Amino acid sequence: MVALEAKDVPGKGRGVVAARAIGSGETVLADHPLLLWPQHSTAAAFCSHCLRAFNSLEDNAEEVVPCPTCGQVGFCNAACAAAAAADPGSHCGAVCRLLAACNMTGLSDEQQSVLQLLFRCCSLRAAGAAGDAAAAARLAGIAALAAPPPLPPQDGSDEAAAAASVSSPISLRELHGRLSHALAAVGASPAAALSLEEVAELLRRDAVNGYGIMAPSAPNGERRIRGTGLYSQASLINHECLPSVARFDRFDAPPAPGAPPGANTAVEFRAMHDIPAGEEVCQSYFPLPWSMRERQERCREDYAFCCTCPRCQEEATWSESEWETDEDAGMDEAAAAGEEAAAAGGDGGACGHAAHEQQQQQQGQAAAAEQAVDAGYINIFLLKYVCPRAGCYGTLAPAAPGADVLECNMCGGRRSEAEFLAELEAAD
Ligand SMILES: [Zn+2]
Ligand SMILES: [Zn+2]
Ligand SMILES: [Zn+2]
Ligand SMILES: [Zn+2]
Repeated sequence: MVALEAKDVPGKGRGVVAARAIGSGETVLADHPLLLWPQHSTAAAFCSHCLRAFNSLEDNAEEVVPCPTCGQVGFCNAACAAAAAADPGSHCGAVCRLLAACNMTGLSDEQQSVLQLLFRCCSLRAAGAAGDAAAAARLAGIAALAAPPPLPPQDGSDEAAAAASVSSPISLRELHGRLSHALAAVGASPAAALSLEEVAELLRRDAVNGYGIMAPSAPNGERRIRGTGLYSQASLINHECLPSVARFDRFDAPPAPGAPPGANTAVEFRAMHDIPAGEEVCQSYFPLPWSMRERQERCREDYAFCCTCPRCQEEATWSESEWETDEDAGMDEAAAAGEEAAAAGGDGGACGHAAHEQQQQQQGQAAAAEQAVDAGYINIFLLKYVCPRAGCYGTLAPAAPGADVLECNMCGGRRSEAEFLAELEAAD
């Protein structure tokens, strides 16, 4: 992180600040995943190593390589197949056999996807115990990700399931039972086993740090999740409802000559505007058009903190009627559909915040109030940085350093500054 510096941010706990002046459109971070796993229900449509969509392969030049063990899923090319076989944190033989041996009956897609994560962790663990230092380091990296504190113990044993948002009817205990059965069925090394508490810890980290990797939009505009990634540096970037960086990924980019398998799995953060040295760099964990109520709920329920950013402070003073008159009519619709996208994993979902920082965050309110923003600023910000394409809800950032053309991080659509100004004038 040359442009960024991890640091304690007053009122917010750990975060990242600009280590020097950052120019508009600069890529401030490119981070490769500690661990990546597919959404179980759509795994057959994406590379089980790098999550590239099979429908993005070039018809004549590229071909899916089926998994030699299960034949049910595949890889985008021979290099990815070989990389997966050699990587205990990927769809290697051990993980493939565990998935095949596991009883998935009655599990939701989310729970089946959780098992994709857990089997990869079991496999990393066995490899680490057998002397694979890189595997051990990756598990240590996952353990070092921020997590909200566990819910206070109540009677009954399934509170951990609630904390990990693994909803009934199958409890966390049952999920752990199926994991253990699968490990026994394939004769896995005892070193691969995870305790119920360890499973709960992993799921809490996944819940606040996991980035939902979206699939390309279907022809009907529907956007599904293809998988989830855990990124150690990206997770340090805190949330604000008026962010200064936008997340871009290129999972479907064809491999560049000489690039190692998985080069397409980095997430990149691009400065939306100039950022002065020393200022905190923030992303938004969900689509920008969401209403104050939706943002506050999501921050509280999924990330266990209360957002007191300048936008939230300003919007907290708005009356219900102001919401209706001030807001662009399209915004309500945008918010509703953005909610769907986020429910499916959303426009990014990583969070470096932990709930124990909540109090500090509230104490930081006074400091944040000094950089107050008004309704006009918020409106212009949203008009400028929310993708204008119907149904997209992506965030715009300059296409290149200093460029006056902005590019959407979801649909790739572009708009020049001149086009934006013309649209503003036409709207007046
Ligand atoms: Zn691949
Ligand atoms: Zn397989
Ligand atoms: Zn906020
Ligand atoms: Zn867009």
